[in-house]
Amino acid sequence: MRSAIVLGAGMAGLGAALHLQERGWSVILIDRGQPGRETSYGNSGIIQAEAVEPYPMPRDWRSLLDIAIGRTNDVHFEWGALHHHVGPLLRYWWYSAPRRHAAVSQAYASIIRHALPEHQRLIAAAGAEALARPGGFRVLHRDTRAMDKAAANAERLRTLYGVRSKIMSPGELGAAEPALTSCGAGAIHWEASWSISDPGALTTAYADLFRRRGGTVRRDGAETLTQAGSGWIVHGEAGPIEAEAAVVALGPWSPDFLRPLGYRFPMVRKRGYHRHWRGRRTVSLPLLDAANGYVMAPMAKGLRITTGAEFSVPDAGASLTQLARAERAAGELLDLEAPYENQPWFGTRPCMPDMLPVIGEAPRHRGLWFHFGHGHQGFTLGPASGRLLAERMSGETPFVPAEPFDPARY
Ligand SMILES: Cc1cc2nc3c(=O)[nH]c(=O)nc-3n(C[C@H](O)[C@H](O)[C@H](O)COP(=O)(O)OP(=O)(O)OC[C@H]3O[C@@H](n4cnc5c(N)ncnc54)[C@H](O)[C@@H]3O)c2cc1C
Repeated sequence: MRSAIVLGAGMAGLGAALHLQERGWSVILIDRGQPGRETSYGNSGIIQAEAVEPYPMPRDWRSLLDIAIGRTNDVHFEWGALHHHVGPLLRYWWYSAPRRHAAVSQAYASIIRHALPEHQRLIAAAGAEALARPGGFRVLHRDTRAMDKAAANAERLRTLYGVRSKIMSPGELGAAEPALTSCGAGAIHWEASWSISDPGALTTAYADLFRRRGGTVRRDGAETLTQAGSGWIVHGEAGPIEAEAAVVALGPWSPDFLRPLGYRFPMVRKRGYHRHWRGRRTVSLPLLDAANGYVMAPMAKGLRITTGAEFSVPDAGASLTQLARAERAAGELLDLEAPYENQPWFGTRPCMPDMLPVIGEAPRHRGLWFHFGHGHQGFTLGPASGRLLAERMSGETPFVPAEPFDPARY
């Protein structure tokens, strides 16, 4: 039987572990914490079937100026942190040129197309149907100009990729979401996407499924990973763990982890925050307020407000700037009462400059595999990209073209 150690039990690690297991591999999953308690816990919980094009970096001077002077809340820049981000951002800028972004989107769309069906299969196998909410999610636009532009873009995505959406007038939005006290200029309803009422609970359910199918989850640090003969070994607290292959699925921690092995991956680290709110009434589906760059998502714990991208010093504590603006803006749309937590949660979206995850074998180490860099849609992509990785590790024909995701591109 072939054997693998998967390092990192977020959605990416779990997706890979479950697919390897289905192909007959003996798999040990290692995480220094409980499975799915980091980035895969704190997100907006949307399985984004509509996200066929990854987010490019704005390239027009007006948008860049808006970010620089803090006029937009999608992106917040801590200027003292610039030197931590400038290298990866310059590469992100380069890949965001329209022609390059169009090529990247072809690859992205090829795998996003399989993301929801892969989750649906696992949700059913894990018995986690109660956490899943079909019905899509909505993007509210506050003025007519923005709404018209968004409607034209939705039409473009329908023509190019067949993405289903519905244009909702303010009246239709108000009828669908009676809790909203203001409906702006209406919304785009992305109909095919799903949302999850507790993202951490879904990763826990996938970890339980992995265990039920005979997998082992060990609580250990990954730092002792070393090459041993033709395989790999981790010196865990309860003894050595050996396997013929190792998979690095450490989310935003992957580049630092790989440095001692000689790999230098540029990563665009986009921090995001959330806090849960109680209110007399809530929305039934997640809602993105486009003008203010945040999502309000109904969750088991309350209404979760999640922010866009913050560029801060990597180890800095929480800054409330972006979240406070998001919460004020949410208060214009809903009657919010009080937050459940004083301190917000925060985590980092692990984004690659070319907006594509890294899926494939390490260029200079036999039996070492990479599975990270899933950016804004890692919760969506984990199971589908885990399938691609497992197919490559098992020598199968990949279900989507694998080359755009290959680590060798860096
Ligand atoms: C605010 C916000 C909202 C988001 N909303 C969405 C959304 O709606 N839909 C969507 O698809 N995506 C969303 N994302 C993105 C998504 O959450 C991430 O892309 C995804 O969770 C990344 O998964 P991962 O498994 O790569 O990383 P993680 O979930 O962070 O997992 C990495 C694991 O590695 C472990 N680890 C790290 N270092 C070590 C070590 N040295 N030893 C052992 N273990 C270690 C950690 O404990 C962790 O469990 C959002 C992100 C944010 C921040």
